[in-house]
Amino acid sequence: MFESPPSFAVPAHPARAKRLAEVATLLAHDEDLPLDPVVPPIYQTSLFTFRRYQDMEEAFSGQVRRPVYSRGDNPTTMEFEKRIAQLEGAEESRAFSSGMGAISATVLALLRSGDRLLAVRHIYSDTFRLFQRLLPKFGIMVDYVDGTDTEAVIRSLPTASMLFLESPTSMVFELQDLPKLAAAARAQGVVTVLDNSWATPVFQQPLLHGVDLVLHSASKYIGGHSDTVAGVVSGSAALIQQINQTTYSMFGAKLSPFEAWLLLRGLRTLTLRLPRHEASALAIADRLRQHPLVDRIHHPTFSNHPGRATLLGSTGLFSFEVDESVDVPGFIDALKLFRIGVSWGGHESLVVPAMASLHQTPDYNALARFSVSPRLIRLHVGLEDVESLWSDLEQALTQATL
Ligand SMILES: *Cc1c(COP(=O)(O)O)cnc(C)c1O
Repeated sequence: MFESPPSFAVPAHPARAKRLAEVATLLAHDEDLPLDPVVPPIYQTSLFTFRRYQDMEEAFSGQVRRPVYSRGDNPTTMEFEKRIAQLEGAEESRAFSSGMGAISATVLALLRSGDRLLAVRHIYSDTFRLFQRLLPKFGIMVDYVDGTDTEAVIRSLPTASMLFLESPTSMVFELQDLPKLAAAARAQGVVTVLDNSWATPVFQQPLLHGVDLVLHSASKYIGGHSDTVAGVVSGSAALIQQINQTTYSMFGAKLSPFEAWLLLRGLRTLTLRLPRHEASALAIADRLRQHPLVDRIHHPTFSNHPGRATLLGSTGLFSFEVDESVDVPGFIDALKLFRIGVSWGGHESLVVPAMASLHQTPDYNALARFSVSPRLIRLHVGLEDVESLWSDLEQALTQATL
């Protein structure tokens, strides 16, 4: 696929091939749908009627689980939830209208006034804004810790009620040692929640490493086509039940059946898309690493952190820092194939300059521990021809040199 192979050899995780194989087969089939369609139908209905008084009573009392109203269960969204639960090795999943819907519903369902939430630094910017702007209104305090420093996280656990992880983190892709942190948190009765959007359940299954709840922005690789905003949380039936009975039903950020159908369709090709994003991103990261105008690469594959052990592969999102001689806005404007835009995980390549995105969250860098270099540029490497993408980056770097 490449004219010149990467100048490094990434040893494949021993469990990788088996995982890709098992997921590929799982995602190709649906079972037990009425009339045996190969694709789950879209149940575009707001409510489901009952034939008899007793049926309604059985549903309302919880004796029988059946769809009643689409702010609760809907058969199409339930198919998506079932799929994600299978992929994560979870008892249950609950889907939401956005990743933020899933994150806010999870945190607010499980925490109460007076609780302390411990979060790793460099979490996704809107998760940070939720924690800074909204949680204090509910009397929930948030502390941040360097997630790469396992001992520092463990030292900060006492008095916390929840540990919020994201491995790797946003923008700078810092890793966390999931088995160690999950075990330490469990020993102290601290619930662990992990945002797994970057790795997807194909390349990281946090529940198998002791994490209690795993979240995704399904808007990214799970949907995979930049046409849907959605989120999902997975874990034990008891924890998902707590979310179902409080924030899920009362805040009402439910996923629509049509979007659930788009996500199910996106999932069919996940095991084909990911290795392509991965290979192209690694080839580009490796060449950038050797480029004279590039100071630093932030990509989990080039890290020695023990947090790499739970990643069976990598994906298409990473960042790099250019040296002082590069005019960052000039570089961004000179790109032709990389479009300037937020989000990631779709077919198309995208670029985000930290210099611009930091304007969104001025308080982010105010906390010194969060500092992100204004010379940092995040790339999402899409499904285009990798040599064309590389030529685009190379010509833009040359053009933008001061
Ligand atoms: C995009 C993103 C989110 C938020 O998801 P939405 O679907 O946009 O609400 C959460 N976490 C990470 C890591 C993300 O990249």
